[in-house]
Amino acid sequence: MKKLVVITGASSGIGATTAKTLSTQGYPLLLLGRRIDKMEALNLPNTLCRKVDILDVTSFQSAIQEAEAKFGPVDCLINNAGVMLLGKPEKQALTEWNQMIDVNIKGLLNGIHLVLEGMTQRNHGTIINISSIAGRKTFSDHAIYCGTKFAVHAISENIRQEVSNSNVRVSIVAPGVTETELMDHTTNSAIVDGYKEWKKTMGAGLDSQDVANAISYIYNQPQRVCIREVVLAPTKQDS
Ligand code: NDP
Repeated sequence: MKKLVVITGASSGIGATTAKTLSTQGYPLLLLGRRIDKMEALNLPNTLCRKVDILDVTSFQSAIQEAEAKFGPVDCLINNAGVMLLGKPEKQALTEWNQMIDVNIKGLLNGIHLVLEGMTQRNHGTIINISSIAGRKTFSDHAIYCGTKFAVHAISENIRQEVSNSNVRVSIVAPGVTETELMDHTTNSAIVDGYKEWKKTMGAGLDSQDVANAISYIYNQPQRVCIREVVLAPTKQDS
């Protein structure tokens, strides 16, 4: 049997599509998110779904231990869970800033912390962190979201260097606009409308399958090959 892959934020969008894609390829999966009904509805074989808020390290760790007892050690962690709450910096609630920092940075770090040491001891493993094009450059109304994704880029590349000698790969996927639920949580309706207008100029965002294909490509390389970063966006996305 293939080795265990853990996907955070597997209840919708890129995470759910990646789960379906890797399951078709025969990987056993641990799917994590708060909406367990959505993950169970995927009905994938050799798959454990657990209701986990990635900020709760105890339940995150228990789910991984349970999956490892069933399928063996985690060979790949896909740190995908994230939130994007766009806002005007002088107006946005501090709670929204903190939520992005907590989920996009601290939640991602929780995942890395739970699996990295074991991977280095086994001299095998892959961590794929889902960042964003907003982790490479800034966009209006994205200040804190960009800050969290710049952090994902920096943390990923730094850890990659430090564990490379243990045969552990750390990769970044940085998508542009993708058709998912991500934008549904922004509370400023004028910003949501503006985003929709911007999206129209590019026809449509990427399909979540486009991003899942990039994740699958990275993971399915021989272990000696580390694709350090994939940046993908709609051809008509100009920024
Ligand atoms: P979705 O909103 O569809 O998916 C986000 C996922 O994150 C959901 O499954 C959600 O699950 C999960 N999540 C959020 N908070 C938590 C939490 N505290 N604990 C556990 N899971 C959590 O959006 P996408 O698929 O687009 O987002 C996936 C990743 O892709 C994110 O990191 C995002 O920043 C990144 N990205 C997306 C782009 C886009 O345009 N869509 C572009 C660039 C990057 P649940 O609510 O069930 O907990």
